[in-house]
Amino acid sequence: MSKQEITLRFKQFVVVVGALCVIAALVGLNFALPVAPLLALLLLTVIINTRCVIQMPREWWQLSPNESLLLLTMLLFGGEAAVLLAGATALSLSLRAGRNWLNITYAAAITVISTATLAVLLHTLYGDVAALNQSSLFNTYAGMLACAVLVHTVSRFITSGLVVGFVTVQTRGQAWAKLMLHALLVSFVGACAAGLVAKLVGYTGLNLFIWAAPVVALGCGVWDTYRQNKFLRGIGGGGARAHAGAGEGNESEERFRSAFDYAAIGMALVSAEGRWLQVNHSLCRLLDYTERELQMTDLLTVIHHDDAGAVFEHIKRLVKGLLPVFQVELRLRHKFGREVWVLASVSLASNSHNQSVHLIFQMQDITDRKLAEEQLQHDAFHDALTGLPNRAMFLDHLRLAIARMQRREGVGFAVLYLDVDRFKVINDSLGHPVGDQLLNGIARRLETTLRPGDTVARLGGDEFILLIEELHGETEAISVAERIQTELQVAFDLSGREVFATVSIGISSSWTSYLNPEDIVRDADTAMYRAKQHGKARHEIFDGAMHKHATSVLQLETDMRHALERGEFFVHYQPIVALQDFKLRGFEALVRWQHPERGFISPVEFIPIAEETGLIIPLGEWVLREACTQMNRWQKIFPADPPLAVSVNLSGKQFIQQDLIKRIAGIITETGIDPKGLKLEITESMVMDNVETAIEMLKQLRALGLKLSIDDFGTGYSSLSYLHRFPINTLKIDRSFVTRMTDNNENLEIVRTIITLAQTLGMDVVAEGVEVQEQLTMLRDLGCEHGQGYFFSKPVDVKGAEKIILETYILAGTTPPPQPPQGATPRVMSV
Ligand code: C2E
Ligand code: CA
Ligand code: CA
Repeated sequence: MSKQEITLRFKQFVVVVGALCVIAALVGLNFALPVAPLLALLLLTVIINTRCVIQMPREWWQLSPNESLLLLTMLLFGGEAAVLLAGATALSLSLRAGRNWLNITYAAAITVISTATLAVLLHTLYGDVAALNQSSLFNTYAGMLACAVLVHTVSRFITSGLVVGFVTVQTRGQAWAKLMLHALLVSFVGACAAGLVAKLVGYTGLNLFIWAAPVVALGCGVWDTYRQNKFLRGIGGGGARAHAGAGEGNESEERFRSAFDYAAIGMALVSAEGRWLQVNHSLCRLLDYTERELQMTDLLTVIHHDDAGAVFEHIKRLVKGLLPVFQVELRLRHKFGREVWVLASVSLASNSHNQSVHLIFQMQDITDRKLAEEQLQHDAFHDALTGLPNRAMFLDHLRLAIARMQRREGVGFAVLYLDVDRFKVINDSLGHPVGDQLLNGIARRLETTLRPGDTVARLGGDEFILLIEELHGETEAISVAERIQTELQVAFDLSGREVFATVSIGISSSWTSYLNPEDIVRDADTAMYRAKQHGKARHEIFDGAMHKHATSVLQLETDMRHALERGEFFVHYQPIVALQDFKLRGFEALVRWQHPERGFISPVEFIPIAEETGLIIPLGEWVLREACTQMNRWQKIFPADPPLAVSVNLSGKQFIQQDLIKRIAGIITETGIDPKGLKLEITESMVMDNVETAIEMLKQLRALGLKLSIDDFGTGYSSLSYLHRFPINTLKIDRSFVTRMTDNNENLEIVRTIITLAQTLGMDVVAEGVEVQEQLTMLRDLGCEHGQGYFFSKPVDVKGAEKIILETYILAGTTPPPQPPQGATPRVMSV
């Protein structure tokens, strides 16, 4: 709960208790009480309270007779009457001060409660309160007065001490102590006075009291008028002339006074030492103080501490005559702690009577404007979803950290770049609102793992970034990364659903000397990317090699964008051979990139980047069109049954394209290839992400008349349980199994299992990466139908492929040798 909320709840509670006290007093009231003296007391209390405040000379507090009158009522008419009187007078006083309803009733309730408390306390200690006054025992009387002092001090502590002091107590211990001393003194003097008057009334009877009351009230009125006029005369020489534009004289004083009192902006007359001498209604409303409460404080109490220095500096110059007037924007403390922004214009008002110098403050409320400015400022530097600092603010902090680090030996900082693993899956499957909740949850956890001086920001999407300062080595940064991983191991409860999240973290630190904040962030990003590649839910520290790699990746990406237009890509073909008779069955189309400066670049290097950037879509389509055009031509020149086939790799990015079927159908028609001679190679992971949609997609592809094979079989997800549902023609055993098949029995068994599995499912098998005779023999023995590998031929260009077809085609019809020819490649037999 915020401080403001606590204050609000507290006030509401006090009001309810006050109301209960009033009800209890009404129930317990003795209706036989004499009405006339009671009314007289009520009148007296209201008038005296509003008109007669005794300002202590050279002090910043005043003597208010309210409590004395209530004690007097209690002693004369009993506790219930005092409680009701307290309620009535406090209400009328607060109404006059014109604050909002809660504050009005709150102020009244405090007085009611303190009066009721005193009544109950006295009743408990001494029995009938009204009879106390008759007691001639000194001890009883003194005890009664002590009780009154105690209760009134506590009540003052709550109204002035707690509410005014609560806010300032941390910074203004002295002012608060002064307030307490004041409360004690005032209560003591008040209680003694009430005791004396009660005793007097005890001797003279109530009638004298009824007559005396109006006289006292009148006296108070006169005193008050005198006091006000004195004030006006005081500033009449300077302030009144300056502000009312008139000279001396009652009329102009009166005009100035009402202009001052009812001005739309806050106005105050302040002594050169900073005491509030006179304040107007607008200022009281602005700060929610009554006139009297405000006069009990001083400038230093009300002005925000961060602004006080500048204001007093200006005042000094004003008083010295160095400035005619000054204007500042400053913060005032509202009674309940919040800040109020004002534009203050301050000028001098000399007092013609005693030559002293006063200040006239005019204060215009600019809180709304300031809040709007602050909001704008905040929005410019914060992320709207999580409320965390954004990239701009983070870079700012980082810049400062770099500057600080250059001044300090041995102490450094680290930047941790966090990316939520699988966030897209969570977002897509559970919906964006849940995704947002997760990001917020992560933001809050990150905040709790950090020390106060550190910064956590959100860079957008599912990426966060942390600045950890005051480190003595990279190992400390690593332990922060580990702490974050541990912290995130606890599930998030998102709308009743348990969600687990892991993050990949990249670390760069000031131990690699940096001058530029963007460089640090970039390197942490690179390291994060590496952490992702190495299996997610882990961290990596940036090193120079990564930087080199990262820049070359970036360069490659840029180059690849142009390579398609410039015709730097071409297709190589690697034969696929039937193992029983070594007949050529077809080719796998493999893309090649001849970079103008770097020469040949392996697809192992550029395909992953193309996948990441989306370039694989136009590239993959280009390869497909190229391969189909080529195969159509070969099919026409070298007809065979079954026709020569070409296998083309299909990337995951292509597979999830909405219009994939339409595109492939278009290419088949466009190139004229017999679709029976086209095979698309997909990987297990592509179909396992979303099995049902994948099956539907595969069926539609098959409906085009083409064939499908699963590439690198055995390395991806274990899709064995689904395999029978996929409309697949071929399994391609991954090269790694074939390579290690001759090493141990285990790998041999895997290959055997795959082959058996394929046979039971009616699929055929291609063994990839056949390099040596021994592998070939084993595969043949296991009943594997097809093979592909350097043993037969490396991938070759169109000419090379044509040579292979031609040789095997010409040989067709002659006796096919049972064994492949030894020696030079290609070792492919007739079609
Ligand atoms: P892949 O689809 O598994 O292709 C087989 C790779 O194994 C090819 O490497 C081929 O040259 C290599 N290879 C064939 N026989 C042997 C052998 O006996 N020993 C050894 N050590 N390697 C052999 P390449 O051409 O470098 O292609 C690498 C990967 O790049 C391919 O693996 C495929 O995943 C991807 N790729 C190539 N072209 C394309 C394409 O057009 N589209 C897509 N999406 N991916 C492609
Ligand atoms: Ca392949
Ligand atoms: Ca493969």
